[in-house]
Parts: sequence; structure tokens; C-alpha cells
Amino acid sequence: MSPVGNSQTHVAAPSRGRYANSGNGPSFAPVDIGHTSYMALIQADTAFWALIRKNKLADALSSPSFIRAFRREEKKFSREMHTLRFGLKPSAVYFNPTEKCNLNCRYCYIPAAMRRHGAHMSVKQVLHALALLKQYFRSTLPAGTRPQIVFHGAEPMLNREAVFVGIERYAADFRFGVQTNGTLLDDRAIEFLTGHGVGIGLSLDGHQPRIADRTRKSWDGRGVFAKVNETMEKLSGYPGCNVICTVTRENMRHLTPMVDFLHAMKVPACMLNIVRCTLPPARKVRPADPAAAKYFLAALERSNELFHRTGRKIVVANFANIIVSIVAPAARRLMCDISPCGGGRCFFALAPNGDVFPCSEFIGLDHFAGGNLFRDPMAKILKSAAFKQVTGRKVENIEPCRRCAIRHFCGAPCPAEAHEVNGGMDQIGSFCEFYEEQVRHAFRLIADGREDEYLWDNWKKGTTQMFHLRDL
Ligand code: SF4
Ligand code: SF4
Repeated sequence: MSPVGNSQTHVAAPSRGRYANSGNGPSFAPVDIGHTSYMALIQADTAFWALIRKNKLADALSSPSFIRAFRREEKKFSREMHTLRFGLKPSAVYFNPTEKCNLNCRYCYIPAAMRRHGAHMSVKQVLHALALLKQYFRSTLPAGTRPQIVFHGAEPMLNREAVFVGIERYAADFRFGVQTNGTLLDDRAIEFLTGHGVGIGLSLDGHQPRIADRTRKSWDGRGVFAKVNETMEKLSGYPGCNVICTVTRENMRHLTPMVDFLHAMKVPACMLNIVRCTLPPARKVRPADPAAAKYFLAALERSNELFHRTGRKIVVANFANIIVSIVAPAARRLMCDISPCGGGRCFFALAPNGDVFPCSEFIGLDHFAGGNLFRDPMAKILKSAAFKQVTGRKVENIEPCRRCAIRHFCGAPCPAEAHEVNGGMDQIGSFCEFYEEQVRHAFRLIADGREDEYLWDNWKKGTTQMFHLRDL
């Protein structure tokens, strides 16, 4: 066999790339989006897409002008995708100021012994950690950038004095948020947090106690719906409030009334997050993909009906992020639906003992600690083998994601699930079909010109919408 390499072959018999799907031509995958009139043509590597009338599909694929339109934009798309996937620096931290939680939710990713008997960070430790983080971000982010610190679970309000001192001391340096189960927010805490403009994320899984309390309970088995409801009423109209509803088999049938309920409470944004199955207890409430997708899409449509009826939106932020990943990839706000995901790359998680993990999802899996904030330089932690396992997980190495046309709108989440449920970073996560249905639905809305109705007002501000072809 002669030692003829690819480059020589390329020189000897170059294809000018004039035809789609052969030679050096671009590969376009036709994707059924479930629309009566349109299909999507997707160039998967660059996330370029066009919506094509079904009866014009053959014309588009054989049209020199269609291929030229792609070629004109190809480099820009590739560059942007490359920057998004490999060129970002961390700008947020999920900061766990305590190991303890006053609840024992069925799907929690933090081990029960840690939540029950764990330790708080002292005020001194919280302040020291914030000082180290400030120093780190100063050395990596442009001057004037305020990175985000989200005090996260276990339950951060169990250690609220340390949290509040940290927020007061570092108000000029960070944008702060708190993700809380909402049971410990008394009037003084609400006044402090809203007065400091702190984002408040509440966790609630249903619109009635009989639904919500199936998964979220105290250690002695009592439901907490009533208390969270009271907190929501107090926060009604606060623009920085959002609610995370974890979608499980226990509540998926009730997502539509949940959206009604949250809208009535004037919650501006919610997340209907499918349960992460990283730890075994969560797998017991795992919903089946087709059913979860059916109820999820119905809830989305209800959010849209409410918008039309009242003129006020409730944005389902995790779905909005998928629309944005299609129409303006760089404007994504959440980083699960890109590969590698944002864990360890755009943000990281800090455990109360100072250990740093790529994402909160890995807290409880000790071997994913990349180092300790109090002992190791952040730059070294980010390059650790533990972090590299997560930041190196790419769709190109995962079957069947590497062949999937929507891989850069879905991102093949989640590395923690892939590793723990399916046995490795090169494995698929838990909910392929659920994500697939969301992307198809997003394309249907785009085909009908309705995508803005599902997005945050002013979402275009400061973002660049990539060129795509909607109507061939
Ligand atoms: S998880 Fe499924 S939808 Fe997502 S990239 Fe992989 S194959 Fe595609
Ligand atoms: S995909 Fe998983 S590990 Fe990555 S950011 Fe999302 S939850 Fe964290």
C-alpha cells in the first residue's frame, strides 16, 4: 500500500465542495420537526440550520445558492461555536455555605448523611472564600465584570448570617443569587435579599400540597408546600424571583396547572427541570421520556396561552434557553445544553469544606473534587484530572450523539448522569428523547415565527442573532 496521506489525496483529487453531502460539500441532515409544512436542514458541526418547505427539500439540497449561503456564513458559525464550546472562562460559582438541609427531598444529589449531620462554613470561612474568588476572577475576567455567586444547596438559609455578611461585604464585586427551598425565608431575610437585589430561586414541585409534598418533605415526612406558598406570596412581583420545579414521575401530569399557579403568583420565570438521575434515589422518580415530553410541551403551551390572555409572560427558562441555542447561540444563559457543558468551564461549585467541583451535580462524588479553594490555586484546580474528565466530555465522543443533527442544541447532558448511571463520560445521559422533543418543538415555533413569545423580553439586547434561513 502506498503511503499516501489524506493531504496528498486532497491535493491530487480535490472536490470543490459544490454538492451537498458528497466530496468536500457541506453535510446537511434533513430533520423532521413535526411541522405540517416545514423540515429543518441542519449542518450539525456548525449548528447552521434552515427551515425548508417540505415540497422544496430536494430543491434546497441541490441549489447552488443554498450551498453558497451556507459557505458565506460557515466560518462565522464555526468560530462562534468553537468559542462557545472551548473559549469561555468561568464567571459564576455555585457556593454551598453549608452541608446541612432541613428537608429530605427524594431526588437530592447531596448524600443524606451530609445533609443531616454536615457542617456550616463559619463567617470567616465564607469571607475568606469570597476574597479568594474575587482575587481569582480579577485575574481572569475583564475589568468591571461582576461574576455571579449563587448560594446553593444543601439549604443556604440555614447559614444565613454568614451568607448575609458575605453579600454585604462583597456587594460591589459580585452579582449574588440564592437558591433556596423557601422554608426559612422570614420577613427580615426577604427584606435583606430584595433590598440588595439578590436573585431568589425557590424550589417547588407542584401547585397543591398533594403534588408538591410527594417529593419535597422535611426529615420527619411533613410537606412544605404551605410554607413555600407563603414565601412566594411575599415575593409576588419581585422581578428577581424564579421557581425551579423538578419534573419527576410524581408531578409531570400536573405541570400545566403548575404554570397556571406560578403565573397567578406573578412569578416572571420558572424552570421545569427534568430530574437529574445522578444518585440512585432520584432514579426512583425518573419519568419516562415520552410522557415527560408530552406534559412538558403542554405546560409550555399553557404559558403561551396565559401570555396571550393577560399580556404577561411566565418564561420557562430552560426551554427558552433551547430556543436561544438555535437562534442566537451566544446568548444562552444556561449551560447544560451545550457540549462540553458549562460544568468546570463556565462555572464551578464550591463545597463547604472548600473542595471545588465542576458542578453541584458532582458534590457527593468525592473523586470529582479538583482541589480545595483554601489550599490550591483555582487555575490548577480547573486543569485537574477531575475537571478535565467533565470539560473534556464532547458530543463527538458519545454514541449516538456524535451522529445526531441536533447535538449542538441539546448538548447531550449530563456528564454526572452519564458517568454515574451509564458508566462513563463517553456515554449518553438519561433523557435523550425528552431533549429531542424540546428541540423539535423549538423549531416548530421558529417555523411559525412565534419564538419571541417564549423568550425573556429584551432578550436580543446585547446579543447577536446569527443568520439563518427560515423560509425557502
Ligand atoms: S442526547 Fe439525544 S438528542 Fe441529545 S445530542 Fe445525544 S442523541 Fe441527540
Ligand atoms: S449538564 Fe450536568 S454537570 Fe453539566 S452543567 Fe448541567 S447539571 Fe452540571
